[in-house]
Amino acid sequence: MAVMTPPVVLTIAGSDSGGGAGIQADLKTFAALGAYGTSVLTAVTAQNTLGVTAIHPIPVDVVAAQLEAVLADLPVAAVKVGMIGDPAVGELLASWADRLPNLVVDPVLVATSGARLAETASVAPLLKSPCVLTPNRQEAAALVGEPVETVPQMAAAAQKLGGRAVVVTGSELAVDVLHFGGVTETIAGEPVATVNNHGSGCTFSSAIAVRLALGDRVPEAVRAAKKYVTAALAGGRDWQLGAGPGPLNH
Ligand code: PLP
Repeated sequence: MAVMTPPVVLTIAGSDSGGGAGIQADLKTFAALGAYGTSVLTAVTAQNTLGVTAIHPIPVDVVAAQLEAVLADLPVAAVKVGMIGDPAVGELLASWADRLPNLVVDPVLVATSGARLAETASVAPLLKSPCVLTPNRQEAAALVGEPVETVPQMAAAAQKLGGRAVVVTGSELAVDVLHFGGVTETIAGEPVATVNNHGSGCTFSSAIAVRLALGDRVPEAVRAAKKYVTAALAGGRDWQLGAGPGPLNH
């Protein structure tokens, strides 16, 4: 029988015990889109659909050991970075950036429930790396220090932030703004009326990483990821899981 290697994607992110966001959403997205998922945990969160009750950052040497173990053995083709629990981990990842191919950085700062998950200082070192950066409007505002609510403000923020490409996601507007190769464009999607949106940012950045691993260019990867998130939101619209905002259906 012929030997084959599936595309390998790595998530460097926090665990969500409720299963809706973080590492759990990332691995579900990788599997659904045909990639083999590997993971480096940066933090353990205790949470459910109602909110976050504890955060335990993983020590930087344990993060480094996980990263070394994965990269030493598995042919990682794309990497997604989510929640960074400790600013020292941001520095570590920045120093490893040239070993992290097709890097997608989701600057996770605040959970959907409003809980603070990380500080802007944690992700700042990574903004200088050649990554695809995927802030939502709130995260973009925190990173540029200005309000980001309208589409023109999203475009201005996308141009200002570093990275190889920046996608500012519009969440309930369902309009994203992509800045790539000197061109800024809007990508309109179909709004999905649902309370079950926990993990949509994680899912979006993970889907971009899979598509880049499969050989898409950035604009195609972003469009495919947006379609996947829309389908996963629509698929989970009628789910009742927990008393708060539930997860997507991968
Ligand atoms: N990563 C972790 C570990 C989280 O707990 C959360 C939200 O609670 C996120 C990322 C971001 O979630 P979302 O995709 O809903 O923005």
